[in-house]
Amino acid sequence: MSTADPCAKPGLMPFQQALNLLLEKVTANGHPLNTEKRPLAQADNRVLAQDIIAPIDVPPFNNSAMDGFALRAEDLTQFESLTLVGTALAGTPFTGTVEKGECIRIMTGAVLPAGTDCVEMQENTELNNHHSDTTSIVFRQSVKSGQFVRQQGQDIVSGSQVLPKGQLLGSADIGLLASLGLTEVEVFEPLKVAIFSSGDEIIQPGHALDAGQIYDTNRYTLNALLNKLPVSIKDYGCIKDTPEAVRKALLLADKSADVIITSGGVSVGDADHIKPVVDELGTLELWKVAIKPGKPFAYGHLANAQFFGLPGNPVSALVTMYKLVLPALQQLMGMSKQSSMQCRAITTTPLKKSIGRLDFQRGVYNIDEDGQCLVTVTGNQNSAVLTSVSKANCFIVLPAEQGDVSAGETVTIEPFDHML
Ligand code: AMP
Ligand code: MG
Repeated sequence: MSTADPCAKPGLMPFQQALNLLLEKVTANGHPLNTEKRPLAQADNRVLAQDIIAPIDVPPFNNSAMDGFALRAEDLTQFESLTLVGTALAGTPFTGTVEKGECIRIMTGAVLPAGTDCVEMQENTELNNHHSDTTSIVFRQSVKSGQFVRQQGQDIVSGSQVLPKGQLLGSADIGLLASLGLTEVEVFEPLKVAIFSSGDEIIQPGHALDAGQIYDTNRYTLNALLNKLPVSIKDYGCIKDTPEAVRKALLLADKSADVIITSGGVSVGDADHIKPVVDELGTLELWKVAIKPGKPFAYGHLANAQFFGLPGNPVSALVTMYKLVLPALQQLMGMSKQSSMQCRAITTTPLKKSIGRLDFQRGVYNIDEDGQCLVTVTGNQNSAVLTSVSKANCFIVLPAEQGDVSAGETVTIEPFDHML
């Protein structure tokens, strides 16, 4: 039987409403990023600040897609073989015109010579030079006009938009820009992101644990995730649990960062000072979202920087970073809106779910022999159990109003992308 979620008290903002509010507020509270010209080789993983319009056709001329012979297709209806009159190499075009009854040896990438309209691959031809001084080529089968010809502009037509402003440049995009002959592009400068952990119990890897201490996990997760984005990260370490330490840290980061991301200290515990200090130094605009894991999420702004307060539990920190902060950062970085891929899968096990909050459980999906998508939850779903994420390849997204799910029921999954 489904139970109500004891943590889903009135006042929690539904996930979609919180995300919409964040996307609206980050633009209102933020400053547009400056732009800069970058050489192509240094523009990977940066966001385009201009539309790219093609200055040329790609390919710039009709050329051969095969090593073989260029000919006029209709000639094979009249001739048994065609006289070989020259060669066209990639970079060394045949400059004459190919007449009726003639053909040209041609290599992949060579300009299609005037007078020809197709290419036959070498494997379907025979050399015939037994009976005269001239060499002729026997074609073993008929050919079609246009075959094995890469038409001018088949990839890109001059004057068309190739990439839009807001595109995060990946390796294929960089190659595409090079194929147009461009040497540099206008991109947005990296967003400056300051990160902190918080908590007196948190110590850094490399030191022995004393009683009650745990290793700092969240700053490493955050660093790893942010490293995949066009941001410059300023890592401020871990803040002690006093209002003075929190105040000092936030004021320092506010001087130079566009965005401050903290983890821990935003709940209702006696040592949770971050939220009240943000309230005191700036404006808190959002606190507590109806999602699981991750309820005590906070957003606001200081004099200069915008503030995102993630919950301390490592899974909560990661899920709120990925589902709430990342879309906001992408918008601030000038990226066009991204949508997450969701699909349906059959759960192989029952799923425990209380009514009240949108739940991002972690699972492993696979496609069975019949082509059905199946998903299996990754064990203990406690928000402190980070193996539940590292073992997973998807979220199992259970709506707020959903209760327990039985094995065999269909659920929504969201496959992880390269960020997780
Ligand atoms: P808090 O919201 O500060 O009470 O933190 C909630 C839980 O998350 C506590 O059990 C903390 O010890 C844990 N926690 C907070 N920050 C970190 C961190 N950086 N790495 C690992 N665990 C953390
Ligand atoms: Mg804490």
